[in-house]
Parts: sequence; structure tokens; C-alpha cells
Amino acid sequence: MLCGAPRHTRVVYDVVNTSCPIAFQRFFMVYTVPSCGFARCYVIAGSRGLMVVDPGSRGAARAAARLIRQELGMPLTAVRYVAATHFHIDHIGGMGPLLAACGPETRLLFPPPVHDYLTGRRRLNRMAGWLSALPPVTLAAARGLRRLEDALPATLAGIPLPLLHRRTELSFPVERCDFPRTGAGLPGFADWEILATPGHTEDSTSFYSRETAALICGDLILHMKQDGRGVLNAFCWNRDVILDTLVRLRHTIAPRTVYPGHGEPWEGGERMLDNIVKQW
Ligand SMILES: [Zn+2]
Repeated sequence: MLCGAPRHTRVVYDVVNTSCPIAFQRFFMVYTVPSCGFARCYVIAGSRGLMVVDPGSRGAARAAARLIRQELGMPLTAVRYVAATHFHIDHIGGMGPLLAACGPETRLLFPPPVHDYLTGRRRLNRMAGWLSALPPVTLAAARGLRRLEDALPATLAGIPLPLLHRRTELSFPVERCDFPRTGAGLPGFADWEILATPGHTEDSTSFYSRETAALICGDLILHMKQDGRGVLNAFCWNRDVILDTLVRLRHTIAPRTVYPGHGEPWEGGERMLDNIVKQW
């Protein structure tokens, strides 16, 4: 497991300011939730609490909660945000159960186009690569499933199939959702930028910390083979756009750790994005 601190490090929690764990005041760290679904789920420690990214199943919600309580020694009321990199079922399927376990102040974060999905003004993107690109990723990701709930979403929203792409039944109240524009900062997570990284879908976003050179990239880049070379996702809405996104990121950011939507996080040098492989 790759994370910002030894996995069993206990964090002293500041009981005076319950949103500010002492050990996290100087660092913005990412914790990888152990395999718990088809997609990877991460917990970011900010200066005023936590952000959970991409809890994609009931099992992911449970595993993230367990990591927060047992590994970080923090209550779920410390979770300020539960965020999705994009509106696909394997990334949003555990947001409702996790939100229900958090405090009343916790907010859900979605990319701006998701607002239009939920109001019926826009459909999910049609995807290419169903037969060539998706099966190997799904089969490899399925090896990380531990329990039935790891594969069970709390909602059928976010399935990019033509007959289902209008399904937007949610397992959480829309009043708890925010749609921050890309480029915006988040209170308590000042070092983290929300980057527009379209291509896999038009709403795809990534989270990038310049301070720690960490990139949580959703389904932009995959790392299933654990060989230290990420792969540009060929299962996508628009291959020209996803390639443009990668080229743009190479010129604008310099991550040294990438946390992918599927596969294991890995570290590299400042030019690690130059090594991303395109397989089409
Ligand atoms: Zn996706």
C-alpha cells in the first residue's frame, strides 16, 4: 500500500478543534483505501478534516470508514467532503452510504456537468472501447473484490449504457451536493486544485496537490499491471480529448505520485507523465 504515512501510524486527534487533527496540520497526505471495489478509493487529509474520493460501492464506503476510524483514529464527522472524479457507477456507488455515516456538515462534490445530468439537461457520454478496453480492466479490478458489498453500488445511476444513461436515482439528497468549478480551491484543502481532465468522460476531473506533487486522476490513467507505467484509458468518450488532456498536464503539472482510478498508486520522477503509455 502506498500512502503518505506508514499505514499503522496513529494520528493524535485534536479534541478542541475536532476538524483539525494535529498530525495533519503541516501535510496534505493521501491514504489509499485497501481494495474494496472495482475502482480505487482515496482519503485526503487536509488542514481542517478529510476528503474521501471515489467511494464506488457499499464495500468502499465501509472500507473508507474503517480506515478513517481505525487507521487514522478519527471520527467520520471529520469528513468534510465526499468527492467523485466523474459520474460513473463504480466511482459514485458508495457515496450515499458514506454520506449517511458522516456528519450533517459533510458535502458531496461533483464536477459541474453532473448538475446537468441530475437535472436531465445532459446525458452521460457514450463510451468507446466496450469490447477492447473495458474487459481487461474490469477483470483485473475484480481481483480486488473481497466481499459481495464491494461490488454493490447503492444506486444504478452512472451507468454509461444507452438505455441506462438517463438513470439518475440517487442514494443521497441533492441538497447535500456541490458542483465546484474546476480551478477552484476547497476550504481546508487549499493545496489541492480541481483540474478539468476530460476525455474518459467530459465531466472527468482530477485532484492535484503541488505541495506534495500528488495526482488523483480518476479514470484518466490506469495502472493495472503495477509496472510503474501508467496507461492512458482507452475506454473513453473521446480519445482525442483524453490525449489532449494528457499533453496539457505534461506541460502544467509535475506529479511524483499518481493515484489512479483503477490499479495501484505509483511513484516516479518529475517527468513521470511522459512515461504514460497510449495503447491505441
Ligand atoms: Zn469511469
